[in-house]
Amino acid sequence: MLSPAEIGRRAAAFRDTPPETLLAWVVRTFPRKTALTLSFGGGGIVLAHMLSRIDRSVPVLFLDTGFHFPETLAFKEAFARRYGLTVVDVRPLADPGPLYATDPDRCCHLRKVEPLERAIAPFDAWISGLRRDQSVTRRAIELLELHDLGGRPILKVFPLAHWSGADVQRYLRAHDVPRHPLLDRGYTSIGCWPCTRPTAPGEPERAGRWSGTGKTECGLHTFTTRR
Ligand code: SF4
Repeated sequence: MLSPAEIGRRAAAFRDTPPETLLAWVVRTFPRKTALTLSFGGGGIVLAHMLSRIDRSVPVLFLDTGFHFPETLAFKEAFARRYGLTVVDVRPLADPGPLYATDPDRCCHLRKVEPLERAIAPFDAWISGLRRDQSVTRRAIELLELHDLGGRPILKVFPLAHWSGADVQRYLRAHDVPRHPLLDRGYTSIGCWPCTRPTAPGEPERAGRWSGTGKTECGLHTFTTRR
């Protein structure tokens, strides 16, 4: 793993380059040890499109919670086929039942966090499409972050950290990349169907996730801690 000083230097240098440059560097620096996590519902498809032009063998980890919209599963299949992605479906060890109604934190832990902890274990670099402008909990993310994963280092890579939602849409239009169909039916962030609703104009991008419960994140980005 790179030293914290080297990671800081690299992050500063990549601040003024396109995300593709950072992605290509990560794939080159961590061959067969890099993975992208992708829900297919948001801006992460920008990264999937970029990766398809850099190295299609990089695993794209999809958390198959069992509660995705049918539109998500169909879009994932079509998108992966179109761009030749190496998608890996990541599932829970056992079906925990419809816990989302009574204990959504536990549901997310069993259907997302625990499966991802297992799936990400072989990798040294973890790419994700999180952006600063998505929510207050994401405002401080950096392009490159050194994290601790069960006592060992892992590099978290957020190439779109400084992009806006408008930047994402501009990229998709410019490259003729298809979008999740529910984005045109009032949804601005798409997760599991029991915990996602369309948003009204002017609402924050993630306001439709776990609406009215006080929950804002599934925990995928809190099981590692920043070093
Ligand atoms: Fe369960 Fe909802 Fe979390 Fe999906 S988003 S894992 S249904 S609580």
